[in-house]
Amino acid sequence: MKQSTLFTRTQKNAPKDEVSLNAQLLIRAGFIDKEMAGVYSFLPLGLRTLNKIIDIIRQEMNAIGGQELYLTALQNPELWKKTGRWSDDVLDVWFKTEVASGGEVGLGTTHEEPLTNLIKKHISSYKDLPRYVYQFQTKFRNEKRAKSGIMRLREFIMKDLYSFHTDQNDLDEYYEKAARAYANIFRRAGLGDLTYRTYASGGTFAKYSHEFQTLTEAGEDLIYICDKCHIAVNKEIIEDLEHKCPECGASNLREGKAVEVGNIFKLGTKFSAALELNYKDQNGETKPVIMGCYGIGPQRLMGTIAEILSDERGLVWPEAVAPFQVHLLSLGKNAEAEKIYDDLVKNNIEILFDDREDASAGAKFADADLIGIPWRIVLSEKSLAAGGAEIKRRNEKDSHIVPLADIERGLK
Ligand code: ATP
Ligand code: MG
Repeated sequence: MKQSTLFTRTQKNAPKDEVSLNAQLLIRAGFIDKEMAGVYSFLPLGLRTLNKIIDIIRQEMNAIGGQELYLTALQNPELWKKTGRWSDDVLDVWFKTEVASGGEVGLGTTHEEPLTNLIKKHISSYKDLPRYVYQFQTKFRNEKRAKSGIMRLREFIMKDLYSFHTDQNDLDEYYEKAARAYANIFRRAGLGDLTYRTYASGGTFAKYSHEFQTLTEAGEDLIYICDKCHIAVNKEIIEDLEHKCPECGASNLREGKAVEVGNIFKLGTKFSAALELNYKDQNGETKPVIMGCYGIGPQRLMGTIAEILSDERGLVWPEAVAPFQVHLLSLGKNAEAEKIYDDLVKNNIEILFDDREDASAGAKFADADLIGIPWRIVLSEKSLAAGGAEIKRRNEKDSHIVPLADIERGLK
């Protein structure tokens, strides 16, 4: 894509009321735009990165048998009354409104109720189980605090997967599979080393649930890490565990601030009992379906990456989620830059070409640093005189000259 045609501009300063680093950088670089507190639009660069994150998650969910669907945002109160969660005392983040013909509706905060109800129409026997279904869908939550940029939104996309089983063993096995898929996702998104499978409270059915918590000062949670086991415990249950690692018993746990980028939860029969989702076992006996649920917020994950991997000059995207792989800067108009651009596009390399004639070299460098594309190629009179183009990675200080014929090989 030619930068001269990109409709977004970079900004020197973020809006004064924007206190979070991730949103400040993403707004300045033209990835997102703030509508109001906790509500952000995704612009072309931001959407490219978000879609890459979504694709990674989708691949990993498909690899564990997930079938994708798309449920509605508008919610029927009747279903939620059956589980008790229509009440604002039980679920305190509802946005509720009314339909024109009369009667209340809610904007979905999560989807256990409608999905359990839907699955009922398709499951009747043990032969229909297990099943795994998921979606990327917009959730609405009237969050009390919305000061963490895109890490805590009032309108956000969630990947939510729900699993349906005949028995506890089958759920336990799938739960571990999902945990491995989650670890893959956070590693592929560049946060593997800083993300810990974290013991959290488990509700009525299981002793624990697990959150995936990424260490960052911008996080709102406090976790206790066991470096030996590479796991952590959420502050909310650390007393119960007497400040010890639940896996090796060590007591030298390290405290850190973290953000919950995903979680996995054994629901048991909580929703199937309330909404009468049953199946007939081999003996013809009717039993409630056992369920699990597995959530990730792609925008929260994107905000976390922006927050952690940035530096004083701007964003630093890992290649797997960068909006483009290569940022080509031409300083002064030259035919060589056009040719490199055409060649790389032909070879399916995602490239942003800063071909702007009215921008200074300094402005181009500053924008490239702010936008954070992994590879930077600079073509100028000076580089051509030195034998080719200057290449460097976003997180390297020094560039080196690569002959024009070898550019593609230089991107390694
Ligand atoms: P938190 O404890 O941070 O409020 P939660 O426990 O309510 O989150 P879930 O309802 O389990 O979160 O949602 C699943 C995932 O969706 C979370 O792990 C997180 O990645 C994402 N998520 C939750 N709330 C938000 C939000 N307000 N904005 C963006 N992503 C969110
Ligand atoms: Mg939580």
